[in-house]
This record gives sequence, structure tokens and C-alpha cells, in this order.
Amino acid sequence: MSGHIREGLAKVARGALDYALPPRCPGCGIVVTADHAFCHACWADMRFLSEPCCVTCGLPFEFEEAENAQCGGCLAEAPPWTSARAALAYGPVSSHVAMRLKYGRRIGLARLMARHMAPRIAAALLAEKEKALVIPVPLHRWRIWSRGFNQAAVIGDALARLTGLTHDPLILKRTRATRPLRDLGTAERAREVRRAFALDPARRGILKGKKVLLIDDIHTSGATARACTRTLMEGGAEAVHLLCWARVLQAGD
Ligand SMILES: [Zn+2]
Ligand SMILES: [Zn+2]
Repeated sequence: MSGHIREGLAKVARGALDYALPPRCPGCGIVVTADHAFCHACWADMRFLSEPCCVTCGLPFEFEEAENAQCGGCLAEAPPWTSARAALAYGPVSSHVAMRLKYGRRIGLARLMARHMAPRIAAALLAEKEKALVIPVPLHRWRIWSRGFNQAAVIGDALARLTGLTHDPLILKRTRATRPLRDLGTAERAREVRRAFALDPARRGILKGKKVLLIDDIHTSGATARACTRTLMEGGAEAVHLLCWARVLQAGD
């Protein structure tokens, strides 16, 4: 057999193997028994967030508090949104899943994330589905060109399909590319994103009286979500409920 043919056959065999690849853990990539199932180690590392929590920002409470109780942070300075929730605490596995969606274009992960996020959608939104609108935190168009898609919009789309809510990924625009917020302090972050968002003038009227489910992958300082919320409220939204895949819990939370 010539080297050429051997090489060709090897390629065909590899192709067949690719087809029959066993399912892998979305967190670490080891082989697991079912599609989109986390392995035991990753499962153990993930902290799913739930009640009881601050009614406004979703910060988990260690003990059951009075209904609609707020955390100290929200009491001191009320965030602009009606509520903020996340499926998971930010950690090695939850951040890795978000990174794989962002840079690996693994759309199947968005469906997985949406399934874990859906139970945390504010009841007020599901009670009046016709008044609810799913809106992703937008990326600047330069970033979309370089990356090919907006990960928040892909999650928003998956959530909308899962819940029957309407998804509008075009109404909120990022008008200015912002520097990465990672290395900035709180005040600098707020300054950086203050005028970075605007509404599509042609779609403005759509927001009036709507309850928005604002979608992002990772909630860190909340500077971006605050700026988006203010823009949506100024545009006539009745309420904004933020929903993220994972949120950073400060030390001591
Ligand atoms: Zn794993
Ligand atoms: Zn709070």
C-alpha cells in the first residue's frame, strides 16, 4: 500500500472515530456517560445558587430571612435592576464553561447553560410572558466580527426557545468598544461603560411597559449590567431582571 493511500485510510478512520466520539464533561473534557453531563469532580466543584437570597441581587443568605429581605449592599445602595440572579457561583468550572462558549463557539453549551439558568427566571416574567422580553448584553460590532457571535445572545436565544419568551438581540446596542474591565477599579468601570450603550431608534417603542430579562454570562462588578439597565429603563422598560450564568461572590459572601 502506498504511503498516500495509507494516509488517506487513516484519515477516513479518524473521521469515523470523530463521529462516534463519546460524550465529554462540559467542565473538564473527560469522558462521561451522557451528553452534557458534568463529571463527579466538576459537579462537586460547582456551587448552584438558590433561595434564600437577597431579593434584589441574589446574594445567597446563609439563613432563612424575612420574605423580600435585602443584603447590606443593596440596602446601602440600591442597584438599578429589579432583581439579579445567577445559576452558579463563579468558580473554576463555571468560568471554564463560559470561556468555552465565548471562544470555542460551542453552541451546545449555551443550551446547557440556559437549562440551568431557566429555573432562576423571575416569576413575574413567566406570569406575563407577553410583557416579557429577553435582551442580551450586547457586544461591540468589532468584537462580534472577530469572534463571530455574542455569547449572551446565544444564551438568550436558547433561553427564549426553552421558555417561550420573546428574544430581541437587536434593540440594545453597544455604541463604544470598552476596554476590558478586569483591571479597573469600581469607579473606573462605571465611567468606562457609562455611555457605551444605546437603543436602536427604530425599535425603541418595543420597550414600553416591557419587563426585560437581561442576559449575561458572567456577573462580576455589575458595571456593564447597571449601564444596560439604565439605558433600558430610560427607554421605557417597566422593569429589568438580570440573569447570568455565574456571578462572582466576594470573599465572605
Ligand atoms: Zn468534569
Ligand atoms: Zn443584595
